[in-house]
Amino acid sequence: MKYLSTRGQVSGLSFKQAVMMGLADDGGLLLPESIPHLTPGDFDAMAKLAYPELAFQVFTRFIDDIPSADLKGLVERSYATFTHPEVTPLVHQDGIDILELFHGPTLAFKDVALQFLGNLFEYLLKESGDKMNIVGATSGDTGSAAIYGVRGKQNINIFILYPHGKVSPIQELQMTTVVDPNVFNLAIEGTFDDGQHIVKEIFGDIEFKQTYSLGAVNSINWARVLAQVVYYIYAWGRIQRAGGSREIDVAVPTGNFGDIFAGYLAKRMGLPIRTLILATNENNILARFINDGDYSIGDVRPTPSPSMDIQKASNFERFLFYLFNEDTEKVAAAMQEFAASGKLTFTAEQQATIRGTFASRSIDNSQTLATIRDFHAKTGYILDPHTATGVAAGKELTDGRAALVCLATAHPAKFGDAVRKAIGQGPEMPDSLKGIGQRDKRCEKVPPDLETIKRYVADHAR
Ligand SMILES: *Cc1c(COP(=O)(O)O)cnc(C)c1O
Repeated sequence: MKYLSTRGQVSGLSFKQAVMMGLADDGGLLLPESIPHLTPGDFDAMAKLAYPELAFQVFTRFIDDIPSADLKGLVERSYATFTHPEVTPLVHQDGIDILELFHGPTLAFKDVALQFLGNLFEYLLKESGDKMNIVGATSGDTGSAAIYGVRGKQNINIFILYPHGKVSPIQELQMTTVVDPNVFNLAIEGTFDDGQHIVKEIFGDIEFKQTYSLGAVNSINWARVLAQVVYYIYAWGRIQRAGGSREIDVAVPTGNFGDIFAGYLAKRMGLPIRTLILATNENNILARFINDGDYSIGDVRPTPSPSMDIQKASNFERFLFYLFNEDTEKVAAAMQEFAASGKLTFTAEQQATIRGTFASRSIDNSQTLATIRDFHAKTGYILDPHTATGVAAGKELTDGRAALVCLATAHPAKFGDAVRKAIGQGPEMPDSLKGIGQRDKRCEKVPPDLETIKRYVADHAR
């Protein structure tokens, strides 16, 4: 399997090269040259597999440059850190199937991909003898999941910028209580956008990037998308084993279009997904895109689901590649237009194609909390605020003729304030968070200044 860029100037990469490149050198995103198509019989066979075996089977369709035994080892180690024996269990509540993706070390779905990516980076660096310095900005969940993915690993240092005082106390503690010597938490006196901007500038300095072998962990990395394809197939398989419908609808709380793009790939591989229900919070650019063909940036509003407070969906470009029938010139032109005007519009025909696959709702702040409250009153089950947007959108859009799977992207204890607001009590703390406030902490407060941060990275790089 070879990989190419959505913008057409990079092609013929191996899987390993695609993972190490992260963002394509032409500014595009990397995708496989063709999507493997599986038969109904293949999926039936996969329905019998335990999660790590399934992940291995799916990965072998996309990865042909890592020996099987090594890949198997990587997969097994990546999912052994999950506290649930099923890794991503499916829980039936109030007529819907909740796919719990939050049993990894940092209690959000990003662990599913970043545990694997961390092990993969370590393996590839050992093989090449190279070193890597990961630099990233976070608004909360990505930072801790990336840190847990690479803590204590050889040949890798990680630098995470987060906005001081603007992530939840639990999110901050999940980062700062990792005191391994290869982890550097940088609390900047600024916003998430400041951090993101600085990271972009650092990566834009090609000489600096090469001198310090910078690596990226955001969801533009192909390995992250690939790892997320697996749990769509897993959920479908569990429903088959329980005698459920052959076709399923899946509701996905969405910010950067990464998680739902993995579902789109699973559908293109042949998995019987009927509709992908895209849930947004009040930051509704993607809902406007699907319902009205209007992809135009608005102001970012704070919501109870902060990991979806995004107006520029970094993975959207991957979907455009398929919407434009794999025409890389059209993708490049559209991305240029979007960069210049902050806006893209779509033809009636394109809109019909989009709505053949996706349906969408934007869930406002009060409906998010009301969904947590109502669901809890009915079932005793506590949804986290991100998951609640998916449940609300799913319930509005399902016609009851297919099983409805709702992806649960975070454990409610990560967002205790929103949960307390909704139901008047906090969720039970999972073991990994017990006593977290008493542990040793390590972080540096730094000004949001490009040169200061570059110097810090240079001084502490591998
Ligand atoms: C990151 C995140 C999302 C959004 O995922 P995307 O891949 O950006 O669409 C949703 N919920 C939680 C809890 C997250 O951490």
